[in-house]
Amino acid sequence: MNSSLQKRLEELSGRTWRAGLHRELLALQSPPGPRVTLGDRELVNLCGNDYLALSRDARVTAAAARAASDVGAGAGASRLVTGNPPTFTALENDLAEWLGVESALLFGSGYHANTGFIPALCGDGDLVLSDELNHASLIDGCRLSRATRMIYRHRDLAQLDALLAEHRSRYQMAMVVTETIFSMDGDAPDLAALVEVCERHDAVIALDEAHALGVIGDGRGLAAALGLTGRVDILVGTFGKAFGSFGAFVAGSAALRDALVNHARSAIFSTALPPAAVGAAHEALGIIRAEGTGLAATVRRRAGELADLVAATGRARPDVAGAVVPFIIGSEDDALAVSQRLFDGGVLARAIRPPTVPRGTSRIRLTACAGHSDDDMAAVARAFASLSL
Ligand SMILES: *Cc1c(COP(=O)(O)O)cnc(C)c1O
Repeated sequence: MNSSLQKRLEELSGRTWRAGLHRELLALQSPPGPRVTLGDRELVNLCGNDYLALSRDARVTAAAARAASDVGAGAGASRLVTGNPPTFTALENDLAEWLGVESALLFGSGYHANTGFIPALCGDGDLVLSDELNHASLIDGCRLSRATRMIYRHRDLAQLDALLAEHRSRYQMAMVVTETIFSMDGDAPDLAALVEVCERHDAVIALDEAHALGVIGDGRGLAAALGLTGRVDILVGTFGKAFGSFGAFVAGSAALRDALVNHARSAIFSTALPPAAVGAAHEALGIIRAEGTGLAATVRRRAGELADLVAATGRARPDVAGAVVPFIIGSEDDALAVSQRLFDGGVLARAIRPPTVPRGTSRIRLTACAGHSDDDMAAVARAFASLSL
């Protein structure tokens, strides 16, 4: 091996080990699902994002197989070249109709969507304002743009208002970027108030609904549940969470779609999604359209049960809006120890540590799933009861 590379790899590895933050991949013996097998243990899985258990739904997997056999294993090129089979446009049209917007554009993943749309739209002379707890893909999207970046405190609309009041006039365009359900904290911004602040200061609103789709309201996410879709400029959704497969989209006006087709580098310079992912997502969309209200309510009820279990350990009941329930522990070592105790009790709930969350807020990120049975939840309650914190 090249000696400077070898030295660099040792440095990188030493840095995470010394900080107690080294991470390794889990080797599951089973497919990921509401219950998983790890080693010789069967565990209730409380750390997936497959909130509606659609990843192993027979209708979704059959649609994926059908799409692979009808269209192919790969799209063969980027969308702009020849990777644009009719099934892709059909899904985009149905997504747009479902959300009540003019258009949608598929991206390879949520990471591609967020690192694509922000630099495509924002550049020199623009201002991007980002919630401090936004997902890494949004942060990277902001960094890739040449816009001035400002970070506002988590959900702090008074600070957002003040930043816009002070700085907006010096920039051609200002864009506010936020998640609607925060991926590691499970809470939501006061979206109606955020929209008002943005409108007052003539700022573009971009919402990442990755953890809200399938979970909030009838499944269409937080903006739709609050009747705000028509006042939001850009909506990002992903298929890797509640939709149970892979891929993402950016939805909004027809002009937005056209601009992204021409300027979003992560769409232009990357192979289009595999047809199986598009087939699976389209089937999942049909299921959510038909059954979304009930499925979403089930997930939120389960999340409430998990929040009650956290409260029963003596902590404040987490502020839970969707499926994500933070069980905040504090130090990295303590979070690992709690995770291990839950594991011993038959529950898979991994510790989330820096850099994914701020230092001192290491936690167990619990996620609810519509696929968990009452028996599963009873097993989870027993594992929690065995924690003496
Ligand atoms: C998971 C996630 C993404 C990335 O989506 P992928 O399709 O997994 O790349 C983007 N934004 C948020 C808020 C997420 O939680």
